[in-house]
Amino acid sequence: MARPMLIAAARRPTRQIHVGPVAVGGGAPISVQSMTITKTADVEGTLAQIYALASAGADIVRCTCNEKEAAEGLAHIVPRSPVPIVADIHFHHEMALAALEAGVQGLRLNPGNLRKEAEIKQVAQEAKDRGVPIRIGVNAGSLHPELYKRFGGATPEALVESARMELAYFAEVDFDDVKISVKASSVPLMIEAYRLASETFDHPLHLGVTEAGPPPAGLVKGTAGIGTLLAEGIGDTIRYSLTADPVEEVKAGRQLLEALGLRERKSVDLIACPSCGRAEIDVIGVARAAQEALESRQLPIQVAVMGCVVNGPGEAREADLGIAAGRRRGHLFIKGKIVRVVPEDEMVAALVEEAEKLVAEGIEARLAAADAGAEAEAEADRRMLIEAKGEDANHSSQKVELIRKTIHEEREPPAPAHDQSGNPRPSKDQ
Ligand code: SF4
Repeated sequence: MARPMLIAAARRPTRQIHVGPVAVGGGAPISVQSMTITKTADVEGTLAQIYALASAGADIVRCTCNEKEAAEGLAHIVPRSPVPIVADIHFHHEMALAALEAGVQGLRLNPGNLRKEAEIKQVAQEAKDRGVPIRIGVNAGSLHPELYKRFGGATPEALVESARMELAYFAEVDFDDVKISVKASSVPLMIEAYRLASETFDHPLHLGVTEAGPPPAGLVKGTAGIGTLLAEGIGDTIRYSLTADPVEEVKAGRQLLEALGLRERKSVDLIACPSCGRAEIDVIGVARAAQEALESRQLPIQVAVMGCVVNGPGEAREADLGIAAGRRRGHLFIKGKIVRVVPEDEMVAALVEEAEKLVAEGIEARLAAADAGAEAEAEADRRMLIEAKGEDANHSSQKVELIRKTIHEEREPPAPAHDQSGNPRPSKDQ
């Protein structure tokens, strides 16, 4: 079941920092982050969300610390959190100091909103004394007005300069335990800004497309920006910013890293055929039901849902496990080999049951446990379907014939206007 990890471009070397026990940069696994959307003062509600995020695969969670009650909430949340907590700070440096007091494992400072040099240095000094890293979280939408003016807008250079200035303040108190983000809601701007940041700094980079919006557009934007950079070897930790339940952000982050082969697969990789004239079931509905049933289980295998038994097991023979439909039955197959035939209404349940056994026992053991008559039964279904629908249920040969005829007719040269004796040929209309 171990699948070879796809290698994107070699990861650009960065120094390593630690957010609590989670290493970021310096070749550490790329971590997935998200942010709670509860009031941080609501300790139980926030912790419930943090647990949901952690069980979806979040490595680090950020909570806003915008008022005294939020800082007090953090003091209760941090010791009970299963993952390190980063406090998000805008405008008030006292909130950063209070969050440090609460025991957070990281701070995020927005240099566009927190601008007083003395206050920035005070926070950096305190973070240094406590061994807590800071993310310099530059955001195109809240860029320092002077930089906006100097660069004629929120350009990649302006975003990187904002991070550089903040680093310079930190350097004055000899603090360098830093990661950097240069987010924008524009994907091209964000990509350019991170490319420049990667050339400029050797600090770990936290990737994100900010305010990407609700799915699916938000997912597409996040994937376009984050995925492009990761494929170039840029990025050490990621966050999707979706207008959705933050659990969706974590799922998207994990799935992107797993799809790129940058994190080991923990969850099911569900593939499904696109359906066609041969389909014997509602492929979309069954695939969705299978996804819902399997996603909460940590089963690191590829599972296929295929619309017909005629081609399904063959087309998905690379999948660890699959099910194909035919004659109101489901053919369950492992690596393309039929192991059981079940009634159609038990397809999803059978798939889930077999997936769990496959992960627990391994492929060889499950192949050895195949029902004795399954292959023969499946072959009988397959034959009957081919007889009923023919070899060409999608009418492809018919279409090919039509295509050939059309192209042939277009290419056929027009008949000459005169016959061999030079007399004009009668027009077809005459
Ligand atoms: S041939 Fe069968 S498995 Fe392939 S797309 Fe069509 S229904 Fe799905």
